[in-house]
Amino acid sequence: MQTGKIDVTSENIFPIIKKFLYSDHEIFLREMISNAVDATQKLRTLASVGEYKGELGDQTIRVSMDKKKKTITVSDRGVGMTAEEIDRFINQIAFSSAGEFLEKYKEQSNAIIGHFGLGFYSAFMVSEKVEIITRSYREGAQAVKWICSGTPEYTIEEAEKPEVGTDVVLHIDKDSKEFLDEDRIYGILKKYCRFLPVEIAFGKEKEWKDGKEVETGRDRIINETRPLWTRKPADLKDEDYLEFYRSLYPTLDEPMFHIHLNVDYPFKLTGILYFPRIKSNFDIQKNKIQLYCNQVYVTDSVEGIVPEFLTLLHGVIDSPDIPLNVSRSFLQSDSNVKKISSHITKKVADKLAEIFKNDRSSFEKKWDDLKLFIEFGMISEEKFYDRAKDFALLKNTEGKYFTLEEYQKLIKENQTDKHKNLVYLYATDKDKQYSYIEKANKKGYDVLLMEGQLDTHFLNHLEQKLDNSHFVRVDADVVEKLIQKEETHESNLTPEQQNELIPVFQSQLPQKEHFTVSFEAMAEDDQPVVITQSEWMRRMKDMSELGGGMRFYGDIPDQYNLVINANHHLILKINEDKDKKLREKIGKIEEKLEPIRKNKADLESGHKEKKDEEIPREEKDRLEELDKKIGELEKKKKEMLEGYAGKNKLVRQLIDLALLSNNMLTGEELNRFVKRSIELM
Ligand code: ADP
Ligand code: MG
Repeated sequence: MQTGKIDVTSENIFPIIKKFLYSDHEIFLREMISNAVDATQKLRTLASVGEYKGELGDQTIRVSMDKKKKTITVSDRGVGMTAEEIDRFINQIAFSSAGEFLEKYKEQSNAIIGHFGLGFYSAFMVSEKVEIITRSYREGAQAVKWICSGTPEYTIEEAEKPEVGTDVVLHIDKDSKEFLDEDRIYGILKKYCRFLPVEIAFGKEKEWKDGKEVETGRDRIINETRPLWTRKPADLKDEDYLEFYRSLYPTLDEPMFHIHLNVDYPFKLTGILYFPRIKSNFDIQKNKIQLYCNQVYVTDSVEGIVPEFLTLLHGVIDSPDIPLNVSRSFLQSDSNVKKISSHITKKVADKLAEIFKNDRSSFEKKWDDLKLFIEFGMISEEKFYDRAKDFALLKNTEGKYFTLEEYQKLIKENQTDKHKNLVYLYATDKDKQYSYIEKANKKGYDVLLMEGQLDTHFLNHLEQKLDNSHFVRVDADVVEKLIQKEETHESNLTPEQQNELIPVFQSQLPQKEHFTVSFEAMAEDDQPVVITQSEWMRRMKDMSELGGGMRFYGDIPDQYNLVINANHHLILKINEDKDKKLREKIGKIEEKLEPIRKNKADLESGHKEKKDEEIPREEKDRLEELDKKIGELEKKKKEMLEGYAGKNKLVRQLIDLALLSNNMLTGEELNRFVKRSIELM
């Protein structure tokens, strides 16, 4: 027997391993088993090149548990180790033989599991003592036993072991009792080892017999050694991919389609990505991509490894070239990771472009379910935008689909404004904005349907990308002004008449403070009263609701415009009626107002050249007095107009009709409208 000291630079590394190495202690099993898989594959490689002449035999890796002895044992029939190799590979920790082996057997090295940092020593996260009983494949090698109790001292002695291979016996410590539970170990194996390339047995298969679950004689195999992504796409059918998806995500709906990734150069990457149907936030299932390293499960949180929009996809990525035991921030700056990332982005774009090109109608059918994903990608990844701009679709309110280029051609003639800007009209709700859509269509405009969750962000993005292009919601203004062109109508109401009508309408609005009343000279056959909401204000609110650091705008109430058609005969009729009833009275007020206004104007013109302190006190007082008088008279006039408006059913009726076509008339107001309508008939 020989004793020695493990060659570590820091005095005692074991406490560090135990506490800090991995937050997840359960990965010790992944490490033990991947070493066993490594050793098994090395022996296969040696046999295939004739360096090992013995029998390979049954190479199943066996995991067993002895609750009494408090041990977990992992046994393989791989290459094993000589005493000298233990010294080199185990004692001199942080030194890994994988590199050496890869160098020697470059050609067949694909299958060797890569670096997992301090792999073997992770055993000490859960063990008070670890034994390795091993016999090397080399002819006449002496079996040896290595024992270490979690201190830098170890012993090594000769042992009895008839077969080539290695048993690693973990004596589980008190704090880690949880791992001496069959279900727990089975769960961990299923998580990390489900797709390992060498069969792994844990316990025996069970079956139901006479109403009881009994063990059969058959080994319970944990894994599928040739998972779908390792196979040739040409040998696989759609159904195979679907079945694999179901096995990965038994509770999720079926995906739309998949991509089989297979890259050899400049890095190694295989995998299958699935496109789920995503209609809204509600459907988003992030972190459904599983990351593997040579078929060993690593993580299902791939943020930082792939661009964020790709985390919406599901499936498996397997690459030995992704560094695994490093921090996420390091991952993001790793050049391999960057390459992998942009490669996957490209592949995903290629696949979409291919479907678009080969089968446009099926692409259109899938569009509504794909759109969120594609828009997200286009907004967040410049490279993806450049590729996707040729197949991204816009859908109009008639349900027709256009590429960006097709759509530009379609609207160019009719929807270019006087500043040579292309104006894209859109609706966010086909039913609520129905009357606006209809008016725009009547004018020969096309209207897009932008009802998706990301559409507001997306159109903002398009405005930045496309030159001289604006998106305007169809109810942002009266149809005349949506796209400003040279021609305009003459107004049939003078500014004075309009000013008198403003309080008439304003006073009859249900929530006066949320409305601004204005006049517009529209066509005679246009609607008499329209409600609009400014494009800018509405977008700010939309954005703030999606949460874009714009909370401020979200808190202010909605602001609307009540736009009155100065050329509609009903408005002219109200104007006439108002004059008939009020002209005389208003005229009297105006008579009083006129000299006061003149007086005020004279005073003010005398002040023009003077500084405030040069104006005599009594003149200032006089001005104040005049203002007060004007204010009183105007108030009187306003009250008169408001009183008149309260008795004019037509005013309220026109307002309600406008509210109604915006879905803003509800409850009691709606009831009153219906009653009034009947009275008016
Ligand atoms: P890595 O697996 O990255 O090389 P580990 O710390 O997991 O690092 O293992 C160190 C070395 O110990 C391995 O490279 C291998 O040479 C040797 N080793 C560990 N477990 C076994 C085993 N079951 N059979 C043969 N050699 C093993
Ligand atoms: Mg290892």
